Amino acid sequence: MAQALSPDDGRKNLIGLSRDELAGEIESLGEKRFRARQLWHEIYARGETDFERMTTLSKPFRASLAERYRVSRPDISQHQLSNDGTQKWLLGLDDRNQIETVHIPETDRGTLCVSSQVGCTLTCKFCHTGTQRLVRDLEPGEIVGQVMLARDAFGEWPAPLGGRKLTNIVMMGMGEPLYNYDNVSKALRVVMDNEGIAISKRKITLSTSGVVPMIEQCGRELGVMLAISLHAVRDELRDVLVPLNKKYPIKELLAACRKYPPLKNARRITFEYVMLKDVNDSPADARELVRLISGIPAKVNLIPFNPWPGTSYECSSPETIERFAQIVMNAGYPSPVRTPRGQDILAACGQLKSASEKLRASQRGAAAQQAGAA
Ligand code: SAH
Ligand code: SF4
Repeated sequence: MAQALSPDDGRKNLIGLSRDELAGEIESLGEKRFRARQLWHEIYARGETDFERMTTLSKPFRASLAERYRVSRPDISQHQLSNDGTQKWLLGLDDRNQIETVHIPETDRGTLCVSSQVGCTLTCKFCHTGTQRLVRDLEPGEIVGQVMLARDAFGEWPAPLGGRKLTNIVMMGMGEPLYNYDNVSKALRVVMDNEGIAISKRKITLSTSGVVPMIEQCGRELGVMLAISLHAVRDELRDVLVPLNKKYPIKELLAACRKYPPLKNARRITFEYVMLKDVNDSPADARELVRLISGIPAKVNLIPFNPWPGTSYECSSPETIERFAQIVMNAGYPSPVRTPRGQDILAACGQLKSASEKLRASQRGAAAQQAGAA
């Protein structure tokens, strides 16, 4: 059967290469290394995708670039706009896997929720992504590509000084970023680079379910804000909700948090806590939470559980959430309740699960029918 023409047509995508790697590619074309800086500017400050239009580069250089390389984002398979302004993109990768990226507009900022893997190898009981079978790490270019695609959508090349729609990034989409640390860190270095996309480390939050051995390195090398998906205050329960806890229990996780390098600069850690009715939402849980994090500069994000088809969990009542929040707040920790966003398009926390599987299943169905008809 004839395959649809692949978007990559064999040329190498330059998105996601480090500055050094980009310079190396340019040298291999017989150009001077310093030209990499101009090319970097075209790609990451101006958002240019067409070499022909990179007029700061010489014509022959543009032509030899176009022969061997491309500058492309993931394909948009589907775009949905929620009635609260949240947008979700379903993106097709070169190997036809799919991921999701979500943009959440707020009055003073706009946050892009970026995926780090196709699916997730971890199996947190309340998370839709955790039920997705198909998993692979995203390449640096596929992570940076999500950010660039949002900038494309908002026409923010070059990014305006004020009133930007894309100001913050949270690594809270599909996947466990610290299980794909090498690619995530490479991608974030590109995103943070001052002569390009230039989103500062203070505006980037990496969320982890608790990959303890990677936490220190992440803080030291990237210095981004850290969010910990805590969700339970006793190991017996956390072992069930976040099975990774069996490997790295609460005590070790909090010890790693206390040593998180950026904390020294008066930054704080966000603890995420999903509110599950009659599971983890009692006043005793709230008091234990406060005891556990005492001494850590912290904020506690209470996330109302977002249901998805097939889950048996329910969200705590607003009164229960409020009671929990009060106890945490009285102990001196900000405890905002995260307003669910984009629920109507399944874009809220934990609802991301790319349609890859469904699509695959239906494609398989169609293929089987064709085979049957032949
Ligand atoms: N894998 C990383 C980052 C992605 S999940 C992590 O677990 O931290 C982003 C956040 O959404 C996590 O805190 C996760 O626990 C939470 N979450 C997952 N499923 C949810 C659901 N159904 N409702 C609300 N929050 C959920
Ligand atoms: Fe993976 Fe995070 Fe979902 Fe757990 S909550 S399954 S770590 S994406």
